[in-house]
Parts: sequence; structure tokens; C-alpha cells
Amino acid sequence: MQIDTTLAAVVTGGASGLGEATARALAAKGAKVAIFDMNADAGEAVAADIEGVFCKVDVSDEASVDAGFARARAAHGQERVLVNCAGIGTVGKLVKRDRETGAISHHPVDLYRKTIEINLVGTFICMAKAASGMMTLDPVGEHGERGAIVNTASVAAEDGQIGQVAYASSKAAVKGMTLPVARDLMGEGIRVNAILPGIFRTPMLAGLPEKAQAALAEAVPFPKRLGDPAEYASLVCFMVETGYFNGECVRLDGAIRMPP
Ligand code: NAD
Repeated sequence: MQIDTTLAAVVTGGASGLGEATARALAAKGAKVAIFDMNADAGEAVAADIEGVFCKVDVSDEASVDAGFARARAAHGQERVLVNCAGIGTVGKLVKRDRETGAISHHPVDLYRKTIEINLVGTFICMAKAASGMMTLDPVGEHGERGAIVNTASVAAEDGQIGQVAYASSKAAVKGMTLPVARDLMGEGIRVNAILPGIFRTPMLAGLPEKAQAALAEAVPFPKRLGDPAEYASLVCFMVETGYFNGECVRLDGAIRMPP
């Protein structure tokens, strides 16, 4: 699918980090971008910068997502692209990464539920709403494409660390839902893929001291650095533009395999 001025896209979590880089990359190619995020100040600023629209949306709340899509579609028309980046991490928060006891004994149940609600249920709701809208579009091209969805899982889906029980569960499920939803929607001409980012330099890592971030960078086999959000955004654009990319979950991680 071509990314140009005729394309409307929705990026959740577009106020910050990987979502912001993606919103900027899509807009740089001409797309009309709507940002769904809870952070209104940052979201408004990014939207203004890229001449897009900001919609204050809580992705875990169906009514809020409905209102966001209504606003985005009123501004830009039906989106052909959805990128799900909204999410929360638990690294560095109250979950103690204790090798002897394991963190599950310290893990508050409400934090587990909240992580699942935002990272997993939020991705599900946004996919479901976007898909039903995309199905109303006229198919384009020889193979009748209507839309493309990119989900954001994490390497924690495959090698989650101590203390990441909530986050790793949510991201494993985002990975797990990508192929069945791709199969579900292939008859409608809608492709669904997911990226499993390694460690990227975004505000999500802000809770970690610089020293810990440097150690993480050193742990990346090659190149020995944290990922640049622009690299994530490039892969999103490639997945959207490459019609043969479907039902895939791809690691983007400098070959890191997270230790326990
Ligand atoms: P970030 O904190 O910079 O951005 C996340 C954005 O999501 C924020 O703008 C936040 O306001 C928004 N958000 C949170 N809860 C929301 C909700 N309920 N509704 C709407 N918006 C909400 O983080 P990031 O690093 O850019 O992470 C983006 C995605 O990438 C997340 O899903 C994260 O789990 C995933 N990820 C990040 C890394 C990394 O190293 N940064 C690695 C793997 C996966």
C-alpha cells in the first residue's frame, strides 16, 4: 500500500516514543495522521507539528476508542492504516526484579489487570474498530487491498524477564493474536503484522537510570546501542508498503536475547 497524501492513518500512543516516530514518518510521506493518546499536551504538540489531528483516547475504553475513530474519520476520512503503539511497561516500577524470590509474589493484581487492559485489550479494541471501518472501503490494486494494521508487541513476548509477568503476558498475547486476526481479515484485503521491539530509547525507559540504560545498550550484540525510534518507524512503513507482508511477527532488536 502506498503511503501518500491520499492515505489516512491512526497511530495509538502517537504522543511519545515509538508511536510519535511512526506518526512523524507516516506524515513525512504525506499521510494524514490521527494520534490517539491519553497524553493531551504531548499529543496535541506532535499533531500540530505534523498537521494531523489529536484525539484524546484511552485505548482500553471502547467508548473512548469509538469517539476517537469518529473524530479521526470526520477529519481525514476512513483510515487504511492502524498502528497500535499505545502501551505501558512495568520495568523499573514497583515490581521487584528479585532473582531469588521471583517477582510474582510482589506483583499487585491490579497492576497485572491494568497492563493487560491497556496493552492487550486496547490493541484488540482498536483492531476490531479499525477493521470494521476498513471493510467499508473500496479495495485497491490488483489484489484488492483495503488496509494494513501493525501491532507493537515486544521481545518480552518471547523472552520476558523476572518482574515482567504482566508485561510479557500482554505482549505474548499481542503476538499471539496477530496471525489469527490476519487470517480472519485476509478475505477482506486487510493485512495484519506485528513488531517485537528490543530496547528502544524512548520515554518508557525513563524510569531506568542512565547506568542501567548503558548496560542494556552494552548487552545488545550488534550494534551495541539502544534502538532508535526512527528505525522502528521505518519498519512500520515497510510493513504497510509491502503488500506481501502479512501475518508476521518480526523482532527488531539488534539480536538481543534477554537474560533472566
Ligand atoms: P512511551 O511511553 O514513550 O509511549 C507510549 C504512549 O502510549 C504514551 O504516549 C502514552 O501516553 C500512551 N498510552 C499509555 N496508555 C494509554 C492508553 N490507555 N490509551 C492511549 N494511550 C496510552 O513508550 P514507547 O517506548 O514508545 O512504547 C510504545 C510501545 O512499544 C508500547 O506498547 C511498548 O510496550 C512497546 N515497546 C517498547 C519498547 C522500548 O524499548 N521502548 C520495547 C518493546 C516494546
